[in-house]
Amino acid sequence: MTQTASDKAPLAPATSTTGHPDTDRELLSCHDPRTGELLGEYPVHTAADVADAVARAAEAGQWWAALSFAERRQHLDQWRRLLLHRQDELVNLISAETGKPADDARLELVLVIDHLHWAARNAARVLGRRKVPAGLLMANQVATLEYQPLGVVGVIGPWNYPAFTPMGSIAYALAAGNAVVFKPSELTPGVGHFLADTLAQVVGERPVLSVVTGYGETGAALCRSGVAKVAFTGSTATAKRVMAACAESLTPVLVECGGKDALIVDSDADLDAAAQAAVWGGMSNAGQTCVGVERVYVVEAVADRFIELVTARAGRLRPGGEPGADLGPITLPRQVDIIREHVRDALDRGGRAVVGGPESIRPPFVEPVVLVDVPEDAAAVTDETFGPTLTITRVADADEAVRLANASRYGLGGTVFARARGDELARALRAGMVAVNSVISFAAVPSLPFGGVGDSGFGRIHGEDGLREFARAKSITRKRFRVPLQPMTFDRGSRTVRRLMRLIQLRYRR
Ligand code: NAD
Repeated sequence: MTQTASDKAPLAPATSTTGHPDTDRELLSCHDPRTGELLGEYPVHTAADVADAVARAAEAGQWWAALSFAERRQHLDQWRRLLLHRQDELVNLISAETGKPADDARLELVLVIDHLHWAARNAARVLGRRKVPAGLLMANQVATLEYQPLGVVGVIGPWNYPAFTPMGSIAYALAAGNAVVFKPSELTPGVGHFLADTLAQVVGERPVLSVVTGYGETGAALCRSGVAKVAFTGSTATAKRVMAACAESLTPVLVECGGKDALIVDSDADLDAAAQAAVWGGMSNAGQTCVGVERVYVVEAVADRFIELVTARAGRLRPGGEPGADLGPITLPRQVDIIREHVRDALDRGGRAVVGGPESIRPPFVEPVVLVDVPEDAAAVTDETFGPTLTITRVADADEAVRLANASRYGLGGTVFARARGDELARALRAGMVAVNSVISFAAVPSLPFGGVGDSGFGRIHGEDGLREFARAKSITRKRFRVPLQPMTFDRGSRTVRRLMRLIQLRYRR
């Protein structure tokens, strides 16, 4: 269905976000990447619109923050049930805007629901007011800690998981008591509106979550709008621009960026399971997954067999536009050029394609490409390809695999297939998250923090850390009774601090 700024359909963006009339407004068009069909037109919100949205969110946020954790949980639980009730609409919208197969969109919905449930259920435990030990020196004090909401959080999202990825920030920020202004990717504005519209239904139309649409300038305006924090998910290059804009007003940022995740196959690994994981991790969602597998390091002793298994599995996959296709199109048209360039460069530099090749690139679709013997400094090994491609490199042992895997400026996720040394290798990988003998499973464990190191960003979504990202610690001491030793007053006697020193010596000398 085509939506325009003047439509009255529930997903039509019209004036709902900012209250400004949309006549004469620049519009962005949203297309189905499988067919090119126009899906909708959305306003390109200006800095004034963004300021307006943030001001309205701040007001709604005061109401939201004043609710108890239990009351917020009720609303978020209701939202979760509504999302499940309207799951078909959301799944269709995700598929239409990204081109991904229906089951991949359903998987995204499953993750959204699980995380939303976890964040709502655990916010009180993680953030709520509690007593903490006051310690020896302040034994006469009651010390309490709580995590208070920041205010309005700006969330800037990508298109590859247009619901799951931003919800990693949105659900946790809301559960922590913040209001959110969300700037979805220009490729997936409808999903953003769907999320905001459904939450609006359960909070009496208050803009606790509102959406601004547009390109990079709208995102930059959100960074400069005075929000209390920006949670950005997208490319490393854009993250630097986001940080520069946020630096102007000392606005804190959380940045979740790209990756070049490695999968390590040790000599004692279950090779069939490793091949299955490498192919799914590398090819699902047409390789457009921040924590997708892009590089494989396999121990020489099992390399031939592993490559055979990967070749057989990857060679069977077919991209297409139908809901049951193995993989969909490349959502962002210009990404096709990067994929083509990585494959061409790898082959020019001595690499060999064991599945596919340059002919696999038929925009908007890319068939699986598996490359071997690619030099470690080729772009296909060093840069994010974001397509259904894998490089497989033979290594002498798992330690060499770890060394090569870690020689990347990225450090988002990782995978290890090994029997004896699984945990040890996982701990040695320079990455925020690692799955042992499965792939990407950490993203589906809501209690595990998600985020990277190096060019993959910093800060954490999901889990307890993900809740605390959107709250500030508030520490309070309350004096219960007066003690004779009072070192923090000008009325202290001359011996007070010396007595204190003796006490400290007795307590901590050994
Ligand atoms: P992108 O960086 O092009 O855009 C991300 C968002 O930033 C979009 O909403 C865009 O409009 C906005 N934006 C662009 N310029 C801006 C500016 N100057 N100021 C503020 N906002 C601006 O990324 P993308 O192509 O949408 O997404 C793909 C990238 O996201 C990949 O690198 C992928 O690895 C990464 N990603 C990371 C994670 C993670 O959790 N680490 C998850 C999903 C995707």
